[in-house]
Amino acid sequence: MKNPVTAYIGLGSNLANPAEQIKAARAAIADIAGVQELAFSSVYRSPPMGPQDQPDYVNAVMAIATELPPIDLLRCLQQIENEQGRVRKAERWGARTLDLDVLIYGGQEINLPDLIVPHTGLAERAFVLYPLFEIAPQLIVPGKGAIAALLADCPRNGLERLN
Ligand code: ADP
Ligand code: MG
Repeated sequence: MKNPVTAYIGLGSNLANPAEQIKAARAAIADIAGVQELAFSSVYRSPPMGPQDQPDYVNAVMAIATELPPIDLLRCLQQIENEQGRVRKAERWGARTLDLDVLIYGGQEINLPDLIVPHTGLAERAFVLYPLFEIAPQLIVPGKGAIAALLADCPRNGLERLN
């Protein structure tokens, strides 16, 4: 790979056997041309954000090396979401078979209409920060500071580690 960038992907699912969705998504991401898996966190369970009348989520974070530009990476992740049966609904934070977010892309801060990196809400979300800290305890989140400091300010909010 030429000039690889380290990026972090957030994975989430709360429908159709979430643990299997996460496992399948991990394999599909590692299969993208120009992507290599570097690390994968434990799998976590978290109560839903927003509408409460939906199942708990299963979440994990994956570190990758990639030579894909950020928008190409996003498009590949969206294709995997679609292939795993995601149906986009108007409701914000509604149930989904698979959600793949670009959390961090190297040291970059990106503000495009379709892509904001670091991901919005990263600093407040236990289901992102705890798995991210597990695989990258020294990480500096661009524009936001050390992951350890962000974590210290973020209660677990019911987040449980599963494996
Ligand atoms: P959410 O993840 O907030 O529940 P979606 O997965 O449906 O919602 O994403 C909605 C939109 O978020 C997508 O159309 C995508 O273009 C945009 N988006 C902006 N920044 C990012 C990012 N860092 N990672 C993934 N999607 C992003
Ligand atoms: Mg998303």
